[in-house]
Amino acid sequence: MSGQIAIGIDLGGTTFGVGLLDVQGKLVAQTGYPTPVCADPVQLLGEISQKALALAQADAPGVPVAGLGIGIPGPVDPQSGIIKQCPNLHALDGANAVEILKQASGLPAFIGNDAFCATLAELRHGAGRGCRYMALLTLGTGVGGGIAVKNKVLRGPRQILGEVGHLVIEPGGPKCGCGNHGCLEALTGRQAICDRAILKLQRGRISRLADAVGAEHEKITPRLIADLAREGDVLCQEVMDEIGYYLGLAICDIIVLCDPDKILLGGGISGAGETLFGSIRRTVRHVSQISHFDPDNIVAAELGNQAGIVGAGSLVWENLI
Ligand SMILES: [Zn+2]
Repeated sequence: MSGQIAIGIDLGGTTFGVGLLDVQGKLVAQTGYPTPVCADPVQLLGEISQKALALAQADAPGVPVAGLGIGIPGPVDPQSGIIKQCPNLHALDGANAVEILKQASGLPAFIGNDAFCATLAELRHGAGRGCRYMALLTLGTGVGGGIAVKNKVLRGPRQILGEVGHLVIEPGGPKCGCGNHGCLEALTGRQAICDRAILKLQRGRISRLADAVGAEHEKITPRLIADLAREGDVLCQEVMDEIGYYLGLAICDIIVLCDPDKILLGGGISGAGETLFGSIRRTVRHVSQISHFDPDNIVAAELGNQAGIVGAGSLVWENLI
């Protein structure tokens, strides 16, 4: 496989990323395009495959392409190649993406869901390199993740394994999108973090957040809260502290379930630094004494928004080597 490249496609509802990955996991080239607006899955995936092959021809001319991997923002069946559901791209619901991509490109094709791809990318080429046991939590609009055991990213028969966002952390807590109450996602997803800050402002607390957004509370973002926390704003530090406590509790559960060498935190606010990680580590140190897990092994993920294409490309090497 050395001297060949794999194509990785990270599909999103409005844009998709394409990257060329060598067998060592180095991104040789990458770019992004608007996702084609199209109701026919054959045409939609055909156009995506054409753009991906064109990138390979332009940026790695003459280099043999080993195959093509695609990460999907929804549940998939990697064995059959079928996209079960694609919430932001309903045209692909039920489509056999692997078959369509094979036909369109003439290459071996592989599929994974986006959280699986991000976990695989971090395990092979990111902050999880060298770990045999690892978990990734990605903090964004929702809270996702994945779990690796014995150097393999796990998936279960119903593709729910590693959905850490729906660990119940606070019974009777805020309502989650899944219908339950008190899931990690309902406590530490994007909106939950912002709401926590807004509630404190509404109680008359002083914060530089108010200087930054005035009365337009909808302009508050987790990133802004994290930045101001790092700069010493007390209200924002409290929010990070509370978020870190909930994440710490979830991590304690993950520790006793899969005994990880490392736990990685990815997504927008994982760059918050010590203001968030300090709170997480304190919670883990306090709660998870039985595990002998070193809280310093809770670290930021490395690949950022490249994790999707690196993971999709890695699907090719996982399956062909
Ligand atoms: Zn839930």
